[in-house]
Amino acid sequence: MRIVDLITKKRDGGEFSGEEIEHFVREFTAGGIPDYQAAAWAMAVYFQGMSDRETTDLTLAMARSGDLLDLSGVVPFAVDKHSTGGVGDKTTLVVEPLVAACGVPVGKMSGRGLGFSGGTIDKLESIPGFRVNLTTDEFLKQLGEVGVVLCGQSADLAPADGRLYALRDVTGTVPSVPLIASSVMSKKIAAGAQAIVLDVKCGLGAFMRTLKEATHLARTMVAIGKLAGRKTVALIADMNQPLGASVGNALEVREALATLRGGGPDDLREHCLTVAAQMLMLAKVERSPQGARVRLEAALSDGRAFEKFRALVQAQGGEVAAVENPDLLPRAVLVETVPAPRTGYLSQVHAAEVGKAAVALGAGREKKGDVVDLAVGVEVLHKVGDRVKKGEALFVVHANDAVKLAEAKDRLMAAHKWRSEKVMPLPLFYKTVA
Ligand code: URA
Repeated sequence: MRIVDLITKKRDGGEFSGEEIEHFVREFTAGGIPDYQAAAWAMAVYFQGMSDRETTDLTLAMARSGDLLDLSGVVPFAVDKHSTGGVGDKTTLVVEPLVAACGVPVGKMSGRGLGFSGGTIDKLESIPGFRVNLTTDEFLKQLGEVGVVLCGQSADLAPADGRLYALRDVTGTVPSVPLIASSVMSKKIAAGAQAIVLDVKCGLGAFMRTLKEATHLARTMVAIGKLAGRKTVALIADMNQPLGASVGNALEVREALATLRGGGPDDLREHCLTVAAQMLMLAKVERSPQGARVRLEAALSDGRAFEKFRALVQAQGGEVAAVENPDLLPRAVLVETVPAPRTGYLSQVHAAEVGKAAVALGAGREKKGDVVDLAVGVEVLHKVGDRVKKGEALFVVHANDAVKLAEAKDRLMAAHKWRSEKVMPLPLFYKTVA
């Protein structure tokens, strides 16, 4: 089977057989396909799409490219969550320890930044010493002992996705339903959780711009989850504006820590409570969202959620001192607060533009293998619907380069749109697909 024939088949609108998909994934994982051919293959899929059968075959082949964990010998029931990617989305950093603090084990494999959206693994690396690469044995041991694991793709778990993900990031092939669905679900299936909550982002700062596209992605992933015997629920969440205020790796860890200590921005806290409540319900620890909320709020206010995060960091070799004192996390040299240029209601805080401003400051990658600057990023201080007075702080730029700082200021100013008349706030969630 020649890879060029597979590329041209998809380019011309053909449907791959299960064998063809299996062959591509096996060869790609073994390093037998050069990046230029894999990128052309991904671009052909991007333009031509895949049938549900092809998407499922691709997911299962990628899941099987490494170990398939069986967690039943380690914990009675494990849940997992995954976001399809957004701007300022530090939900995992809050939700995983929070749910684990409520007695439900969570073992998660996360990704790095993708395009303008941040990645949990990059964020975690801003904690000095934190090891994101775990072996399968380490993953299982930590899940059993600590009840929470957060790691990146490894040679052991869904390695095909690890390689394809990095290539898609720099070849314009991210916003594709089959590629996102297979990427997310292969990791979830490989990591072995019996129940999965999917946080599907929708809007200007998401790979799925419209509710229709987000619903299609959600339904595709829920169907794959069911087929693989996992209880799966998808929440469709707004991503027109950033989630929380901070965008950038260490800045987001700081905000997550504040949220784990019972504070943090209202939208982030509420978003995390909703996702975590779904996880508790799938694990049958709680029957109603209200009951789950009471339990989760108690874990935030009495310090158990924070303690679980601390235990996670300790278990993965991170400096616990930086968790206790976030001032020890990487900090940018140039920090500038920019005031609002007028009085009015905010009608848009364009999430993708904010994400791109952070990437241009160095918080993400422009090309494969770029080194991320963990300290830089932005804080967007207001939400759509807020009335902001002229001269009030609008956003803060954290930079390590004066030219980049000036460019970020212009971009962020343009990301804010104003109206004189009242504007409705945006919802946090649109719907649930179960
Ligand atoms: N998250 C993933 O894990 N994969 C994608 O393709 C997009 C978001």
